[in-house]
Amino acid sequence: MNRRLRHGDRLVVATHNDGKLREIGSMLAPYRITCLGAAGLGLAEPVEAAPDFVGNARLKALAAATASGMPALADDSGFCVAALGGAPGLYSARWAGTARDFTQAMARVWAGIGDSTDRRAWFVCALTLAWPDGVTASFQGRVDGSFVWPPRGDQGFGYDPVFVPMGESRTYAEMGVATKEADSHRARAFKPLALACLPPPL
Ligand code: IMP
Repeated sequence: MNRRLRHGDRLVVATHNDGKLREIGSMLAPYRITCLGAAGLGLAEPVEAAPDFVGNARLKALAAATASGMPALADDSGFCVAALGGAPGLYSARWAGTARDFTQAMARVWAGIGDSTDRRAWFVCALTLAWPDGVTASFQGRVDGSFVWPPRGDQGFGYDPVFVPMGESRTYAEMGVATKEADSHRARAFKPLALACLPPPL
């Protein structure tokens, strides 16, 4: 049986990424849990040294839970392109460099695709909830779609302007956060997490 948060509990959202913080904060809103951002608490960002998304989400959540003494929720996610063998994948944030320049990261993906006609792409998200005593629960979500060029739309974050989910014609950056959130890779990981580990929505 999973350990469950209760209404009124405090939860650290273990990310320094404002886009993720916004989306996760809005998904948590119906559960009446008090969310605290890792940056606001002055928590350090651990090195993402695991070989997969779940491993990285787990190490980030555990680091934040141990340092804060509160339960912590971490996200590790990435954008994967078939023509690049799944890159940038785990290295999606790093492709944008220390300046977090996603215009340049998206252009790097486009340059890598080159003459390939294979535009299949997907987003992956792993979410881990960790408690200070080391108990964890992890969940994954994935959305398949296509890479489009040039980038379109000015909402969202990261690689949103170059991704059109299957069955849609708009990029994530054109559809807006509320529509994206209804069925994104993050939402697909969050839904089973909510069922297993959160109190009933109010
Ligand atoms: P990390 O999980 O901190 O390693 O960073 C994941 C990176 O993947 C982000 O910085 C974004 O570049 C990218 N990414 C993850 N989720 C999304 C999304 O929903 N939209 C756009 N880019 C995303």
